[in-house]
Amino acid sequence: IDFGYKKVAKGEKQGLVANVFNSVAKKYDVMNDVMSFGIHRLWKRYTIDCSGVRSGMKVLDIAGGTGDLTEQFSRRVGPTGEVVLADINNAMLEVGRDKLRNRGIVGNVRYVQANAEELPFADNSFDIITIAFGLRNVTEKQKALESMLRVLKPGGRLLVLEFSKPVLPVLSSAYDFYSFNVLPQMGRMVAGDAESYQYLAESIRMHPDQETLKGMMETAGYEQVTFTNLTGGIVALHRGFKF
Ligand code: SAM
Repeated sequence: IDFGYKKVAKGEKQGLVANVFNSVAKKYDVMNDVMSFGIHRLWKRYTIDCSGVRSGMKVLDIAGGTGDLTEQFSRRVGPTGEVVLADINNAMLEVGRDKLRNRGIVGNVRYVQANAEELPFADNSFDIITIAFGLRNVTEKQKALESMLRVLKPGGRLLVLEFSKPVLPVLSSAYDFYSFNVLPQMGRMVAGDAESYQYLAESIRMHPDQETLKGMMETAGYEQVTFTNLTGGIVALHRGFKF
C-alpha cells in the first residue's frame, strides 16, 4: 500500500491509521472546522437530508469518530429510535461520547468499538448506515462495503460521504496545493502534528474517484447507486440501497 510519504505493508495500515487518530482525537473537531473553513458542516447536513431518516429508525454511523452525524440522527430518530456510533478507535469514540453527553444527547445512542470490515451486528439490523470521511481509512474497502450491506435491512440505504476527485482541473491543482502544502502546516500549528495531516492529504489522493467507488458499491451488491458532487467534487456523497 502506498501510504504516501512512506510505503507500508497492507497489514500495517490499520496500526498507522490508529496512530493518526489517537494523535488527532482531541483536536479533531477544531481541525475539521479550520481545514474545511466550516464547510464540513454543510456536507454533513446534506448527508442527513439525503438519508431519509425518520422517527423510530435504527441508524449506524460507522467510523463515526466525534459524532457529528450521530448527534443529528439522534435528534431525528427520537426516543423510539436508536443510533449506534461505531469507530475502530477508542480515543475518537471517547471524545465523541463526552461531546454528545455534554450536549444532552443521551438515551438513544450506543457507542461501539468496531472495525467497518467486520461489523459485530446481526444481519438486517439498520435502516440507514453512514460512513463519513471514514472509508478512505479502511484497509479492505470492498470487505467493509459488504459488511455494511449485510447489517443493512432490506430497503435500507448506505450513505458514503468522502473526499473525491474535483471535477475542474484548476480546482484540482489548487486543492492539491492546499492539501500538500497548507494542510500539514495547519496541522503543525493547530494540532502540533504535521505528519498526521500529511497522511490525511495522501489518503484523500489515494481514495477511489466517484465512478470507481460507485462500481465498488455495485460489486458489493448495492442497488440504485448514485452520487452527488459537493463543492465541485472535492467531496462526494454516494448512496446505495439494499433490496
Ligand atoms: N465520521 C466522522 C466525521 O465525519 O467527522 C469522523 C471521520 S474521521 C476523518 C475517520 C474515522 O474513521 C476515525 O475516527 C477513525 O478512527 C475511523 N476508522 C478508521 N478505520 C476504521 C475502520 N476500519 N473501522 C471503523 N472506523 C475506522
